Amino acid sequence: MISENLSKIKANLPSDVTLVAVSKTKPNDAILEAYETGQRIFGENRVQELVDKHESLPKDIEWHMIGHLQTKKVKYIAPFISLIHGVDSFKLLKEINKRAKNEERSIDVLIQFHIAQEESKFGFDFDEAKEMFESGDFSELENVNIRGVMGMATFTDNKEKVEDEFRTLNNYFLVFQSHFFKFNDSFSIISMGMSGDYEIAIEEGSNMVRIGSTIFGERN
Ligand SMILES: *Cc1c(COP(=O)(O)O)cnc(C)c1O
Repeated sequence: MISENLSKIKANLPSDVTLVAVSKTKPNDAILEAYETGQRIFGENRVQELVDKHESLPKDIEWHMIGHLQTKKVKYIAPFISLIHGVDSFKLLKEINKRAKNEERSIDVLIQFHIAQEESKFGFDFDEAKEMFESGDFSELENVNIRGVMGMATFTDNKEKVEDEFRTLNNYFLVFQSHFFKFNDSFSIISMGMSGDYEIAIEEGSNMVRIGSTIFGERN
């Protein structure tokens, strides 16, 4: 089932869109089944689960942290994480920089924006991010590489609303790219779209989708 689901999704993804297979709560054998079909990028949202899976699964898997990350837990994933999607505060970004430095590496991150209506979704708003990018403290962070933006749309059947929110995130990306990352080609990722809305997200400019239940089945 998993390999069929994956093939179906991949057949319909444009070639410039990266698929993150969201394996949170799913057992290792489910991940291995996806791995056997060639999938190498997996997303998790809990630190302990991510650390355990990283330890027991093949070492050429690229692990993405897609959920809310607590500052005090950055140290556990700093040695191996490939991309942190949910950077939602300057404090968290500074901590990632510090832990990356300890590991003598640079960590790729995305800045999470609050684009949905719901209160519960984490992230910067436009002005907060602008203020951070303009600050002197920001320019001193040498061990984080800002690769782009991430966001989640409101959970609704209202397609126009979802389109509108994804378009907003795409616009933020373009504005920040031209103002702060003009000479940094690696600022190139727009992570938006999940099982229920990734087709809309791609129409609105997404080049990284995070898909869980459509690949692995519903979570308990
Ligand atoms: C769980 C999760 C996903 C995947 O959700 P599905 O609806 O199962 O595809 C994507 N992004 C984030 C941030 C998540 O927490």
